[in-house]
Amino acid sequence: MVLVSAKTLVDKAYQQHFAIGAFNVGNSEFGKNIVLVAEELRAPVILAVHPYEYDLMGSAIVKYLRELALTASVPVALHLDHGRDINDVLRAVRDQMNSVMIDTSGLPFEENMAATKQVVDLAHRVGVAVEAELGSIGNRHARADQNMGRIYTDPDSAAEFVKTTGIDDLAVAIGTVHGPYPSGDNDIKIDRLTALNDRLKMPLVLHGGSDNPDAKIKEAIAHGIAKVNISTDIKLPYYQGIKDTVLSKPDQYEPWIMTPAADEIQKQVLREKIKLFGSEGTAALYFDESENLKPLHVYPSDIVDEIIYDQQDSE
Ligand SMILES: [Zn+2]
Repeated sequence: MVLVSAKTLVDKAYQQHFAIGAFNVGNSEFGKNIVLVAEELRAPVILAVHPYEYDLMGSAIVKYLRELALTASVPVALHLDHGRDINDVLRAVRDQMNSVMIDTSGLPFEENMAATKQVVDLAHRVGVAVEAELGSIGNRHARADQNMGRIYTDPDSAAEFVKTTGIDDLAVAIGTVHGPYPSGDNDIKIDRLTALNDRLKMPLVLHGGSDNPDAKIKEAIAHGIAKVNISTDIKLPYYQGIKDTVLSKPDQYEPWIMTPAADEIQKQVLREKIKLFGSEGTAALYFDESENLKPLHVYPSDIVDEIIYDQQDSE
């Protein structure tokens, strides 16, 4: 049983200057690939599910991922990526994910802070860790002449945000972009990250971890990044692998013939990322202090119902 709190994973990584890979579970097979590689490299890992992925696979995916985590030989956490509102968070909490991100970073500062605090107040009651975002990670669909939508996180605002909301870790906008960089203009600003880390002294999260130079990722981890989100870098090669198989075996249709090559390509990328993040072999650190390993608090669902009732009452 090694389903652990994402907070436990990330806090230790922050102290020891490595990062936990948070890999998006784009379909159920990704979950298996990620856990297999994590076990092979003795690395802790976070299984992240974005609301679109959640919608694709349905709530039952969490039960499957929990089973993978519960039977894994390395520490695994289950994380909601980019929860859009309290409803996304409630779905994840009810399904017993043990970590959530609330991303209301598109709202004005005060509103983002209020929405995030509402989630923290709810999630912490049932032992669920909370990540939030301040500033704006870039978006590959945004205009190049508008800095790809990047709004860098301001250290003073971040300090106020963290103090007011009580979040466990913060996604910082320091130049990355979600998805591949349209023109290779990756631009992680280490000076901005250093200022944030000096001010906040807490685990920071790098979104848009794909398509960046390895050296920059390493430097970011040395300066406070303790969780790196990877989605595109494990999806592009996977679907390229599927396309290659479809084209080379046009008469085949069985999933167990069509997907293994793509699985292997994806697993190779996962190995490279875990090694890059410095988390290979670090599962032992958590087992050495196993008394501090906090298994997911399994709470009766009526507590969640009560919280939902509370939330509705207060609206
Ligand atoms: Zn993200």
